[in-house]
Amino acid sequence: MRHTRPWAKNRANELSAHIEDNGGAARLGIRRYTAPPTHPHAIHLIDGETKPVANDPNTYDVIILGAGASGLMCALTAAQRGRRVLVLEKANKVGKKILMSGGGRCNFTNHFVEADNFISDNLHFCKAALSRYTQWDFIGMVERYQIPYEERRHSQLFCLNSAKDILNMLLDECANAGVEIRCHADLISVAEREAGSQPSLRYQLSVNQQDTLLELHCQSFVVASGALSIPTLGGSGMGYDIAKQFGLTLTKRHAGLVPFMFSDGMKQFCEKLSGLALEVDMSANKTTFTENILFTHRGISGPAALQVSNYWNPGDAITINLLPKINASDWLLDAKHSQAKSLLRTVLSHKLAKGLVAELQFLWWHELAEKPLGEYSDKQLIGIAERLNNWVLKPSGTEGYRTAEVTRGGIDTADISSKTMEAKNQPGLYFIGEVLDVTGWLGGFNFQWAWSSGYSAGLVA
Ligand SMILES: Cc1cc2nc3c(=O)[nH]c(=O)nc-3n(C[C@H](O)[C@H](O)[C@H](O)COP(=O)(O)OP(=O)(O)OC[C@H]3O[C@@H](n4cnc5c(N)ncnc54)[C@H](O)[C@@H]3O)c2cc1C
Repeated sequence: MRHTRPWAKNRANELSAHIEDNGGAARLGIRRYTAPPTHPHAIHLIDGETKPVANDPNTYDVIILGAGASGLMCALTAAQRGRRVLVLEKANKVGKKILMSGGGRCNFTNHFVEADNFISDNLHFCKAALSRYTQWDFIGMVERYQIPYEERRHSQLFCLNSAKDILNMLLDECANAGVEIRCHADLISVAEREAGSQPSLRYQLSVNQQDTLLELHCQSFVVASGALSIPTLGGSGMGYDIAKQFGLTLTKRHAGLVPFMFSDGMKQFCEKLSGLALEVDMSANKTTFTENILFTHRGISGPAALQVSNYWNPGDAITINLLPKINASDWLLDAKHSQAKSLLRTVLSHKLAKGLVAELQFLWWHELAEKPLGEYSDKQLIGIAERLNNWVLKPSGTEGYRTAEVTRGGIDTADISSKTMEAKNQPGLYFIGEVLDVTGWLGGFNFQWAWSSGYSAGLVA
């Protein structure tokens, strides 16, 4: 699918320039973007001004921690309901992961989204949010903004031009609904106000914004601060700390969608083949993906490896079928008769890259290398064939949060309402996006979870 009208490039520059101009105290949408609210329910704007709660500029209906994918979606949804919304972002810019995603083209969703595309201790948890705000809802918004996009392999949807288009769409929606966004805002503490105080202002936040200490109050506090992956793009454990503070449980966390590393001989093997990609079946813990792997200087990356990393735990083995559509035993036993004078490496080079075959030969049949195929015993050929179809490897680890696209695990969903994302034990406190124990496959599923969970909380917060 291709849509050709490029969307609002100038708008992109205008918005990002505006955020940087403000040197950190970036406020979007209140005065400068005074476009009338486009959403019929954006009733909170009066004469272009947002009406403060209790006439206090430090009070908000909703404060959202984190201006990433889920936080922006939650903000625009809540503001379109007429809520006065503030988003606090600790970085100098909003939506850094959106901008870096999909190689700069943002794989923003997938045509086929099922609960099976997610990993969680509770596989049913994600269903309610995913059906409340579906991939079609997000695609609808993308199409309304006439953002050019294309469908790639496995039904993944990518921007044709730039991930900026997605970020600017979200920022435009926020601006039109009157959302306020402040960058360089570091949360120092959050506390529940004492019983008896105004229930409409349940939470009190201390925030350091460029050496100015702010005390803010809100009725609903939404944690959208993401997870641990890629600290330079905003990865942080703040959401977990807040969850613990309010008595929520955490599940074990691992780097997810991350390349594997190897030590010793296998590291050298990968190093020598660095840059080579091939399609394989790759598995861990009984879950298999048919996709490319890519040998790197440190180990094995590529989509199959990233997908499998979501199912791998330290110490586990992975298996690779180098000839996914071929029964290697049948094929080699047949070749023993039909190509009896050929060398095994010559026969294998019809199906696999020569460099790979040379390295495999060094590992598996070094001593038989110069023997014609007809002189191999059936047992020898079957032994090699079994490895080709089921090569068992033990990674020494993964590249960790430094390069991981996601964090697997997080806040235990048993403590969260699947309909609203509100903490079950703590009215007015919400957790959305990657901070929760919901991790998607590679393919646009993590953003879809951010949109769906952000929307679900935005409807009620
Ligand atoms: C390189 C890369 C590429 C990716 N590509 C894709 C892709 O193409 N498709 C896909 O579906 N998924 C992709 N992902 C995953 C996707 O980006 C995340 O799953 C998604 O962004 C999670 O959304 P979130 O709102 O939970 O967190 P984030 O988008 O990470 O947003 C969290 C925000 O909170 C801010 N923050 C953190 N701590 C604080 C604090 N204490 N105070 C204030 N603000 C704070 C952060 O700076 C950040 O802006 C990619 C991830 C990476 C790292």
